[in-house]
Order: sequence, then structure tokens, then C-alpha cells
Amino acid sequence: MKPVARLLRLLAPFRWWIALAVLLSFGTIGASVGLMAMSAYLISKAALTTYMVDLSLAITGVRFFAISRAVLRYVERYITHRTTFQILTHLRTWLYAAIEPLAPARLWQYRSGDLLTRIMADMETLENFYIRAIVPPLAAGLVTAVACTILGVLNIWLGVALLFFLLLTGVVLPLLTGWLSHRPSGEMIAVRADLNAALVDEVQGIADVLAFGQTATFHGRTQQLTQALNDVQERLALVRGLGNGLAVLFTGLAGLTVLWLGIPLVTGGAMAGVYLALLPLTAVAAFEAVQPLSQAWQVSAESKSAAQRLFELIDAPPPVRDPEEAAPLPDAFGLEIDNLSFRYASDQPLVLRDLSLNIAPGECVVLVGPSGAGKSTIINLLVRFWDYDTGHIRLNGRELRDYRAEDVRQVVAVVSQQTHLFNSTIRDNLRLAKADADDAEIEAACRQAHIHTFITGLPLGYSTMIGENGRLLSGGERQRLSLARAILKDAPILILDEATAHLDAITENAVMDALATFMQGRTTLVIAHHVPILAHCDRIVRLNNGTVQSTGGS
Ligand code: ADP
Repeated sequence: MKPVARLLRLLAPFRWWIALAVLLSFGTIGASVGLMAMSAYLISKAALTTYMVDLSLAITGVRFFAISRAVLRYVERYITHRTTFQILTHLRTWLYAAIEPLAPARLWQYRSGDLLTRIMADMETLENFYIRAIVPPLAAGLVTAVACTILGVLNIWLGVALLFFLLLTGVVLPLLTGWLSHRPSGEMIAVRADLNAALVDEVQGIADVLAFGQTATFHGRTQQLTQALNDVQERLALVRGLGNGLAVLFTGLAGLTVLWLGIPLVTGGAMAGVYLALLPLTAVAAFEAVQPLSQAWQVSAESKSAAQRLFELIDAPPPVRDPEEAAPLPDAFGLEIDNLSFRYASDQPLVLRDLSLNIAPGECVVLVGPSGAGKSTIINLLVRFWDYDTGHIRLNGRELRDYRAEDVRQVVAVVSQQTHLFNSTIRDNLRLAKADADDAEIEAACRQAHIHTFITGLPLGYSTMIGENGRLLSGGERQRLSLARAILKDAPILILDEATAHLDAITENAVMDALATFMQGRTTLVIAHHVPILAHCDRIVRLNNGTVQSTGGS
């Protein structure tokens, strides 16, 4: 399906609100036209009559249209904005729900700035789609039909002339400006995405950029992209200026033509002279409806590109599919990996080859091996971030993909090297593992992870904000917090990926002693280089080049 059609389908729940906005917009412009027509009539009539009473109907008409125009404009703006924000909320939740199943495997292939652009900027472009691309053309269509019919009833050529100029301004001009702005608007979205990606990259890596004295290089890159964005925006502004200028010209020409056609009607006696001024002013007022159409065209071109990028993002096949009928979670948690081979993409080399490894329920196995041997890949498969197709992974004798991914993740707690901590309080970060954990549970987990004393030593204790990704904490403190999270989750399968690597020897020993008690009865897979943890486990498995090299007791 075409992006615009898909976008319209997404807006379907709001169709009645959109219809109301169109009617209100039509009513507002209709009141404008009525106001102009009545004013013209009032002025002409006032010049010809000496009795006030002759003017009372026109005066009431002017008052009515002036007040109703203001009221209708207010209600129209209110309804339009209210609907826009509702649509934006709907689109954001729709996008989040659509990309969630893709995380993290599919999303890792996007640069984080690019992803941010898609989620934020493209979304905002779509917000304009409704307010600037859907409502104005529909309202313009209604106004054109009514205004041309009214003038056409007076004289067919008046209606034809107005229709000609309205179509010129409302259809030909937008097509022309749309054609001229098609390329620059596509380029603008692409350059803006590049600039955002470059800025996010640069800001995240600012410490390294400064340390290596590369500020000038990065500055140059940003400047280049900013310049490209300025250039493309300038081209768009030129097109917009041309469109606006021509629209004003056509409005004036329409007024003059209608006047020119009206004069013979008066001199020929077909129409009273008092109505003459009414004709050009009605015609000019009707142009209020078609003037936003050039912009509508531009906005729909931008929305199309933005929608295309969003659909491209969500249309990526999910890396893991849940079974039609999910198996219930077992009550014993042995893991059995059997002849497993895996590659991240079909054009990439095998990362795991014919790997077999059994971990009995409650057993602790340590996985060692050089960097790149495939240790973290095994974890990625165990927590269902990626799917496997050659070989088997079984949980309590049943294929892992028979369970729902969400269920599997519920029974596995992972402490990895790159645990993400949110820019929130320590307490909220811990509650990620168990949303309803009370303070006593949180404290007990922190005691076990040897971080409680540190936290209570902080002025705000558990309410301390820890900065983006826990930047206000040291590496060791972050690691102990993620351990506390895993302890709080209390899952039957525990995976520790270099979980104590950032701790000093004394703390590491203390944490390991606490973990030894915690690990009892849990199926545990440990990736570690350090000796202390090995002593607490049953077996060491040596991995090399994606396969088991040797296995032995600890
Ligand atoms: P280890 O944890 O033993 O250091 P990994 O499992 O992280 O090893 O990596 C094994 C291999 O898989 C490496 O060659 C790495 O480059 C590759 N790899 C890891 N993650 C990805 C990914 N997301 N996409 C493609 N290749 C990856």
C-alpha cells in the first residue's frame, strides 16, 4: 500500500473530527465571503439612499457575519488543534507498539540519531499532514463549489471566471510548486536526519573528540551538513515565495475579471448597480480558501517522505516471532543447547558452529573464551533477541521458540556489561526489575549486591537521580546496581556477563560471596575471566571460534 494511503488509514478513527474541522473551516471562510459581500452592498447602498431603515438589513448582515466569522474561527482552531494532538498521541503510541517487537536486533542497525529523527521529527511532520494537507483542500472544494454557484446564478460567465482563477490558484499553482519542491523537500528530510545523527554521535562522543583533538574535523562535518540544510531550505523558501506571490496576483486578477464582466450587466440593465461592488469582493474573499493549498501540497510531499521512512522502519520483519500457541512456562529450568549454528545475517560468517552445551536445572556453568568467541551471542539467543534456525535450544526439554519471547525473558535475569540505567532515581531504576517492589525488597537486593551502604550514604539515598545512563555513578557502582536489579527480579535462570569486571578485588569477593547464596538453586550461566567467580560454579566450558573447545570441573 502507498505511504499516503496507509497514513490515511491510520487517521480513520478521527474521520468525524476531521469532517467537523472541514465544516468549521468552510463555515469560517463562508462567513468571510458573506462579510465582504454584505460590506460591499452596505457601502454601495449607503451611497445611494438617504433612509437609515434601508440599511438595517445590511447592517445586521455585516454584524452577523463578523461575529460568526470570529466564533467559527475560534471553534475551528480549537477543534483542529485538539484533533491534531490526539492524532499525534495516536501515531506515537502506534509507532512505539510497532517498533517494540523489533528491539533490539532490528533497531541496532540504525544510528541512534537517525532513529531519533524518525521518531520525533518525522512524527511532527505527520502532525502537519492533517492540519495542513487534509483539511484545507476539502474546505477549499466546498467554498469553491458554493461561491462559483452563487456567482454563476447571477451570470454564468461570472461563475466560470471565478472557477478558472480558483482552479489556477488552488490546483495548477500547487501542482507547479509541488513539482518544483518535490526534490528539495525529500532532500531536506534526508539532510535533517543526517545532521541529527551526526550531532547525536558527536555529543555522545564529545569526551573522545576533545581528547584526540579532533574538534575541527567534527565541527567541519556539522558545518557542512548545516550548510546543506540551509541550501535546501533556501530552495524551498524560493518555491514557497513564488507560490505566494502568484497566488496574490491571481486573486487580484480574479477580482478585476469579475468586475470587468459585471460592468456590462449593470449597463445592460441585467443587474442593479448597487450589487456591482459585491461581485469582485465576493470573488476575492473566496480565495482565502485556496491560498493554503500550495502549502498543502508541500506538506503532503514532506509527509509522504516522512511516512515512507516510518513505514520502512516498522516493516522490517521482527527478529523473533512468537508461536501461534505458546507453551506454558515449565517449573524446572534446565537449558540444553544442541548442535547450534548461528550467523547474524545471511551474508555474515557463522558466529556459532555446531555448539552443544547442557546446563542442568540449578547448575552453574562458567563460559570462558577469547573476545569474539560468541559468548554474548549465546545470551542474545537465550533471551530471544535473535532467532536461531540451525540446531536447538531447549528449556526444560522443550524448544525455546515454543515459548513466547516475553515469557522466556520473564524467567531469565541478565546482568550484562552494558546494562542501561535510566536518568531517574535509584529506586525507579531498580523497580524496572519488579515494578511493585517495596522499599524493604529493594533494600534487601541492594544489600546483597553490596551497594546499600553506598546508596544510604548519598544525601538523597534511594531518591538520588543518577544522570543519563547512570553517568553520575562509577563503573563499579553501576555494575552493582544492575546486579541488585537482577537479584530483585528473582528469576530462576541467571546470566552474568562479566558482571563483576569493574569491581575492585575486595568488593568483587564480597559480591561473589553474596551471589553464591543467591545462585543456589538457580540455573546460572556466567561469562567471566576472573577467578573468584569460578570457585562458586560447577563447570567451566571453554569456547573458541563459536564452538565448545573443552569442558571441565572448576
Ligand atoms: P564474545 O561475547 O565472545 O566476545 P560475541 O558473541 O559478542 O563474542 O561476538 C561474536 C561475533 O559476532 C563477533 O565476531 C562479533 O563481531 C559478531 N557480532 C556480535 N554482535 C553482532 C551483531 N549485532 N551483528 C553482527 N555481528 C555481531
